Amino acid sequence: MSKFLKNKTLVMPDGTAMDGNPAEFLEGKFVAYYYSASWCGPCQRFTPQLAAKYAELKAAGHSFEVVLISSDRSRESAQAYHRKMPWPMLEFGQTPGCILEVPGYPTLVVFDPNGKPIGDFEGNTVVMSVPFDQWPNYEQIKKEKEKALATEWDALPAELSHPKHAHPLKKTAKMYGGTSGWNCDVCRGSGGSCRGYQCSRCGWDAHPACVGATPVAAPPATAAPGAAAEASKQPEGAASVTTDA
Ligand SMILES: [Zn+2]
Ligand SMILES: [Zn+2]
Repeated sequence: MSKFLKNKTLVMPDGTAMDGNPAEFLEGKFVAYYYSASWCGPCQRFTPQLAAKYAELKAAGHSFEVVLISSDRSRESAQAYHRKMPWPMLEFGQTPGCILEVPGYPTLVVFDPNGKPIGDFEGNTVVMSVPFDQWPNYEQIKKEKEKALATEWDALPAELSHPKHAHPLKKTAKMYGGTSGWNCDVCRGSGGSCRGYQCSRCGWDAHPACVGATPVAAPPATAAPGAAAEASKQPEGAASVTTDA
């Protein structure tokens, strides 16, 4: 951790330089670098939420610190914004020794006490939504969640029909190439993820749940193993030819 703020200065919300060495202050702690700016509306809304979370984590005795990396355009506006926060700021005009650019504001970039990044640019989610004791396993938890979602998706039928629409609907992993938003024709809600069911004739589309998509049942476990294997291989044709050679 210390390497990122080597030879840097941390400033307190009252504008005075922090006593002592920033590296020592951050030693052994999870540190969230808070990329934020007073000119950014979402930042202004997020800062009080982060301050509340900060107080909660501190009260629970967790080794956690936030450091504001200001993207304000002047020292004066950076300091005025910083006064609304309970954590230190990297001296205006100095850059951290690691990430210089973030995809947008506000962004938290979290590091564990050994300087290993947690969730790259997903620090807002890590800090605000993940219990502190699970932070070290964030990447693994995320992977498992994604895997479970993929398994769930794979089990849905490739095609189905629904009383609200006359044509068959096809399972589509990337609606509109995944490039544009879409709205569900059943609930009118946002498509959210890129996955849905779509009519290839007229573009009618819907969330899987909104057209009642449920996982296709696996072959019954009680069937003879040979028969079950043969049945599941039927659509693939050549795959079932194994004993002719
Ligand atoms: Zn829907
Ligand atoms: Zn249609």
